[in-house]
Amino acid sequence: MSEIDDPNDAAGFAVIPVPAFNDNYIWLLHRDACAVVVDPGDAAPVEAALTEHGLRLTAILVTHHHADHQGGVAALAERWQAAVYGPAAESITALTHPLRGGEEVNLPALAARFAVLAVPGHTRAHLAYLSGRRLFCGDTLFGAGCGRLFEGTPAQMFDSLAKITALPDDCAIYCAHEYTEMNLRFATAVEPANAAIRARIDGARALRAEGLPTIPSTLALEKATNPFLRCREPAVIAAARAHGCASDDPVAVFATIRSWRNDFRAD
Ligand code: ZN
Ligand code: FE
Repeated sequence: MSEIDDPNDAAGFAVIPVPAFNDNYIWLLHRDACAVVVDPGDAAPVEAALTEHGLRLTAILVTHHHADHQGGVAALAERWQAAVYGPAAESITALTHPLRGGEEVNLPALAARFAVLAVPGHTRAHLAYLSGRRLFCGDTLFGAGCGRLFEGTPAQMFDSLAKITALPDDCAIYCAHEYTEMNLRFATAVEPANAAIRARIDGARALRAEGLPTIPSTLALEKATNPFLRCREPAVIAAARAHGCASDDPVAVFATIRSWRNDFRAD
């Protein structure tokens, strides 16, 4: 597990990707020996990374209630007496700091502040955490994709993604799953003529061939290649209309391509 250097944040904290399950990333943030973990779905790989890097855990940030994001919270919170931040309106284990979005979380262990964004859609009270030019967004925005709408409406998810696209273009997107290559196959089906998608496929393939994450991406790259952020593009509107969308309204376009994605199987 190697560290990701962020030139935008030289004075801040380092970020280590901790792979878990089939395709999850648990993000381990640290400054000197103090660590904070985002979405620990499993405690064991987090403990291994803490040991490997000589870190002690001080806080846990949870984006939403799904087990692959909080399954390790109970064990980690107990062992480290760590504070647990997460959505007040979802069932989060050992939650000590309930959040609704709009707050600022100060984590002295990282010498960092995190703005809390309410990004409902995947779940009803999903949160994202923004520090400097880094966004930890759970299952809201993925590399070239977005989360399924388990609990929210298309309009809610569209608004949540709009909140994210209002951030600076060089914002690094730390999502919670390695779905980029599969998502790019769908993006190609939506926009076959988009050269930025083709270039990203080559880049993602090269990274995965070396066993490296395609994450973090940047907001600029997502804006150029992610169909769910491109619902006002004529090519995306045309593709949605070919899949039953009856209007050019961006929320209707979003709803159509999101349900098209649910049934999409690429070979
Ligand atoms: Zn989830
Ligand atoms: Fe997940």
